[in-house]
Amino acid sequence: MRRVSILGATGSIGQNTIDLIARAPEDYQVVALTGGRNAQKLAQDAIRLGAQIAVVADEAALPALREALSGSGIEAAAGRAALIEAAQRPADWVMSAIVGAAGLEPGLRALQGGAALALANKESMVCAGPLMLRTAAEGRGRILPVDSEHSAVFQALLGEDIASVERIVITASGGAFRDWPLEDLDKATPEQAATHPNWDMGQRITIDSASMFNKALELIETKEFFGVSPDKIETVVHPESMIHAMVGFNDGALMAHVGPADMRHAIGFALHYPQRKSLPVERLDLVKLGQLTFRTACEVRWPALRLAREVMHTGGLAGAVFNAAKETALDGFIEKRITFSRMAGVVEEVLTSLSAQAGLIDAEVTLDNVLQADHLARQKAHEILTH
Ligand code: NDP
Repeated sequence: MRRVSILGATGSIGQNTIDLIARAPEDYQVVALTGGRNAQKLAQDAIRLGAQIAVVADEAALPALREALSGSGIEAAAGRAALIEAAQRPADWVMSAIVGAAGLEPGLRALQGGAALALANKESMVCAGPLMLRTAAEGRGRILPVDSEHSAVFQALLGEDIASVERIVITASGGAFRDWPLEDLDKATPEQAATHPNWDMGQRITIDSASMFNKALELIETKEFFGVSPDKIETVVHPESMIHAMVGFNDGALMAHVGPADMRHAIGFALHYPQRKSLPVERLDLVKLGQLTFRTACEVRWPALRLAREVMHTGGLAGAVFNAAKETALDGFIEKRITFSRMAGVVEEVLTSLSAQAGLIDAEVTLDNVLQADHLARQKAHEILTH
């Protein structure tokens, strides 16, 4: 029996992970399930899977969690410290699926404990790639990518020499506004941005898909994860979302990973790695699919892509600043304090301002320095939002 924990169990990735685990309960011993504030859903799944402990990050949700778990024998806890303690409990495999920079430390702690970390939380690599890789290398743990693009690249690279890679092509659906006239983008509402044409995901990542901030994070994640030069990383708009990524080699071969938009493939691959096991995902009917199309990823429509390129070239803590500024700008858009197009402007201003502070961006990538850069970037972004 493998011991597994799911951080962010109540979210979209968390629920897809539970779906896979619940299909073979005899194979798993569930250690910890964590959520943000959705105590009911968390308790329901903790009981269904027989978890040892369920933790909500929001302490106000603890009474509801306790009540829902009463009589089950499952421990209930709340707050950041309890969440990190749960993430550190010995486990063989941990899903890191908390949204945002809040997912960094819990995942890092699980990695330090020697777990294989299935990493959906892309922010961990964006904010602290070198720290994550160092931690995996120093301990017994390893990182398995769950973002569909990175899982695709990882699979295309199996048995290959990274030195023979000429380019990595990350595909993007283009999100909700890919066909909107540029001049209409400023009128886009959070509700419109949260409707994805192809994928069913959490609200924040869906809006980030429309702005391509999600793709920007993925480009930075690609650089950090696979250690390739930013100049080898490309984006192409692929509205059908069937090819998740492609790897081009020095002999001209271009290996594409093709599959339907179902995160259970990437999650299942990470769950069973290094084996492949049958997964409950649709098998592609190529004739029905007919054709696959590609378009240029225009940096005028999606300025987040240009900013990502700058961040990749700068390195250091630029990713942490970029992500924190992006999260704050996204809050501003969701709360209707700024327009859709203004988000990139806020992020760029924060990057410019903090890059001018000597010793900040180029400080060593430690947890303390990442948290400090994250804090300063949020503060600066708030300042911009309130002026
Ligand atoms: P969701 O918004 O659906 O779920 C987020 C999870 O994190 C929920 O369990 C939520 O709890 C929890 N959470 C929110 N805030 C906190 C916090 N401060 N502390 C602890 N837990 C918190 O997100 P997704 O599942 O869509 O995404 C999760 C991660 O995976 C993100 O980093 C995303 O970029 C990445 N990802 C997602 C994909 C997808 O298809 N959805 C694809 C590839 C990557 P609650 O709901 O109980 O409040």
